Parts: sequence; structure tokens; C-alpha cells
Amino acid sequence: MSAAPLDPLVIRSLEFLGPMATAHGWRPTHTFPEIAFAGRSNVGKSSLLNALVRRKAFARVSRTPGRTREINFFAVNSAFVFVDLPGYGYARISKTRQAEWRPLIEGFLRGSAQLKGIVQLLDVRHDPTDDDRQMLDLLADIGLPTVVAATKIDKISRSQVETRLKQIARDLALDDEQLIPFSAVTGAGRDDLAKAVVSLLAESAADDPADDTADGTAPDSPLVGV
Ligand code: GDP
Repeated sequence: MSAAPLDPLVIRSLEFLGPMATAHGWRPTHTFPEIAFAGRSNVGKSSLLNALVRRKAFARVSRTPGRTREINFFAVNSAFVFVDLPGYGYARISKTRQAEWRPLIEGFLRGSAQLKGIVQLLDVRHDPTDDDRQMLDLLADIGLPTVVAATKIDKISRSQVETRLKQIARDLALDDEQLIPFSAVTGAGRDDLAKAVVSLLAESAADDPADDTADGTAPDSPLVGV
């Protein structure tokens, strides 16, 4: 008898901490490491997050009127925080409104000392849009560890998925382990994504000089006192 594979990310608790609505606006204060999720509207971000935590929490929050343009924070297992960034590039809104995502998302990404990594979503069927490229350039500029989830793989054949993954990896110069094929419909890729998130959190714990100090602050860090 073979044992069931272990779930790399068992969710024991999930708590909505609240929204951040403007670049310098309110955001929850906490001491946990953060992992943020980014992608254009309709890429499948709420579905991916729901599959990852095996709850409907993200769909519920993101359908609340007004919430779609805010950054939403969720504490997981009282150990780390998932940050749901607003979907950008919605085709049916004006260019000006489309550009509004940038100050809020950039302000958060640059100003968040606890942010340890990003899951960037791309629809496996489409080439990255200009907005996607802006987002990826921003992540590279900030130097945040990034994994890319290629969503909706159930919508094309297995061989088409293989071809598209190669194209995306080449186009964006990604390593194999940085690109995770995913489907919220079949559940494919859920455990690989969970593993990738766990490694982003583990890398951050290994690198974090704050862990070595009694009061939890790094003595030489430029962020002390900010
Ligand atoms: P968001 O705007 O990025 O949060 O996207 P949603 O999660 O709301 O998904 C947008 C649409 O794509 C919805 O109609 C979903 O049912 C659909 N969708 C999301 N993920 C998948 C997937 O993996 N496979 C398929 N076939 N449809 C998906």
C-alpha cells in the first residue's frame, strides 16, 4: 500500500487582515514574511489562490465591490502572509485607469521589508502583455525572488502546454524551477506551487539576519527605525 503524498502546504488557518488602498495608505502591521501574487485581471489569480489554500476565501474577498483595486492581506497558519495584488491591465477600462495599478503595486513592492517573494501569473496561452513585462521588469529591478505560474493549462493540449512553457521560459529567461504549469480546474501544479512558496519562505528564513538578533531587528539594517 502506498502512502498518500504529503501536502507541502497544509493550511490550518486563514485570516483576512484587511486591504491597502493607496501607495502610502493603511496596511496591516505584522511580523510575518510575505509572499505576493501578481497578474493581469482574469489570469486566474483568485482561482489559483483558492486552490493553493483549499478555501474560497480569495474569491469571496475579491468579489466584494471596490476590493478588486486594493491589495488584500491574508495571514496563513499565523506564520506567513499571502498578499493578493490587484489585477492589472483590464481590457475594458481606460488607459488612465489601467495605469493606476502601478503606483500602488510599486509602492507596496518597494516599501515592504517583510516581502520575501512573488508568484507572477501568466496565462499559458498568451504571450506576456506590455503590463506583464512592466511588472516583471519591476520585480527584476527590485531583485525580488520570483516564480512564474503558467495558468489554465487545462485549456490546451498537453503537447501545446509543453511548447508554450518552452516559449515562455525562453522569452523571459526563466530557469525550469521558476516556471510552474498550473490549472485550478484539474488541480495540476497545486503541490508544485505550494513547494515553491515553501522554498521562497525557507530561503528568506535562511537569509534573514533579523533571526540572529534578540530583538528581531538587524543592527546594521538601513530599515531599522523606519
Ligand atoms: P482573476 O481575475 O485573475 O482573479 O481570475 P479568476 O480566478 O476570477 O478567473 C478568471 C476566469 O478564468 C474565471 O472564469 C475562471 O473560472 C477562469 N479560470 C481560472 N483559472 C482557470 C483554470 O485553471 N482553468 C480554466 N479552464 N479556467 C480558469
